[in-house]
Amino acid sequence: MKNKLTRGFCPTLKKPIFAEDGLLVRFRPSMNTMRSDNLKTLCDLSEKYGSGIMEITSRGSLQIRGIAKLSYKKFVERVLNKKIFKKPGDDNSNIIINPFWNANDRNFQIYNTLAKYKFKNLPEKFGFTVDLGNVPCLRNISGDIRIENSDNEKLLVRADGSDKGKELNPNEVEKFIVNLTNWFLNNKEKNINRMSQLLLIKKLPKEWCQDKSKSKCYNILPSNCEQGQIVGIKFGRFFAKNLKNLLVKSLTPRVRITPFKMIILEQVKNYKDNNFIFNSRNQFLNLSACVGKNHCTNSLIDTYELAKKIKGKTKLKVHVTGCEKNCGITKETQILLSGRKDSINLFDFRSQESKNIGKNCEDISKKLFNDSK
Ligand code: SF4
Repeated sequence: MKNKLTRGFCPTLKKPIFAEDGLLVRFRPSMNTMRSDNLKTLCDLSEKYGSGIMEITSRGSLQIRGIAKLSYKKFVERVLNKKIFKKPGDDNSNIIINPFWNANDRNFQIYNTLAKYKFKNLPEKFGFTVDLGNVPCLRNISGDIRIENSDNEKLLVRADGSDKGKELNPNEVEKFIVNLTNWFLNNKEKNINRMSQLLLIKKLPKEWCQDKSKSKCYNILPSNCEQGQIVGIKFGRFFAKNLKNLLVKSLTPRVRITPFKMIILEQVKNYKDNNFIFNSRNQFLNLSACVGKNHCTNSLIDTYELAKKIKGKTKLKVHVTGCEKNCGITKETQILLSGRKDSINLFDFRSQESKNIGKNCEDISKKLFNDSK
């Protein structure tokens, strides 16, 4: 287990990361969806072998924190024995599906086509978004090849970093994606791991970037939806016992884990639970934070305490990190606050300006964020 502090390393069940609070494992459920009974079992295992703290990530994965080194082997055995995942927790790790998919719709079909294909030699973080709702909602979620609907009933496949792609019929998608990934692998230099990095130095073939994608991106908030009820999770972090309680009491048969720090409880409507966010105007919804002090050895600040101080001071999308590595930042982030040795650095993505504020946070006021900029 040499994974401590390795940059860009993605933990799995069999490759945990050492964090300040113990070992951390990550699961990537197929179609970002889990049966409730399996999720309840994971909650129990988190309580028994870990710290009881779980997280959902900005790519719709699930993390269990704080597993003691001595309990890790037993924990892995229990996960495998319970057959919670088809493969040991690592199903289709690099595909994110539109959370509003329906059985046998285009999302479902394209996801499963890609899931069967074995893409070789792609960088660990290289990923696909299958975003085939009426309006795309995964635009701001990390991905390298994006499959979206075009305006004329066809599919649009585009390389991340280009706002134009190629329109295709569903049966042409697989072959085109194979060509696109091969183009990436053949042209990338050693230090390039993402499609958007490559597009900064290399132009796509002209015929692959002629069709414009839809401009709108659906903003997801807690509410009822066709598939069930969307529920927010403050900073994407929760106690396993609280999630188990939510699953038991709401009677949901299946849970979709979105990349928006929200889950969808299938077949549930109008449920409420104070441990989770059910109100679309909740002031925590625009805030996110990496785990920070006590959980990550690199952290120079208590990220959650700082995020709580920001609550209600701005409607901008603010992300707080404990150090310069800036884990968990998304394309949506407008303001980034990150810990430094003697201060907190504020970077405003709208103006590209940066300033330092005091660690004791006396400067945190509405004025600091200047929402109307
Ligand atoms: S950004 Fe946060 S989680 Fe990432 S290394 Fe720094 S303190 Fe740790």
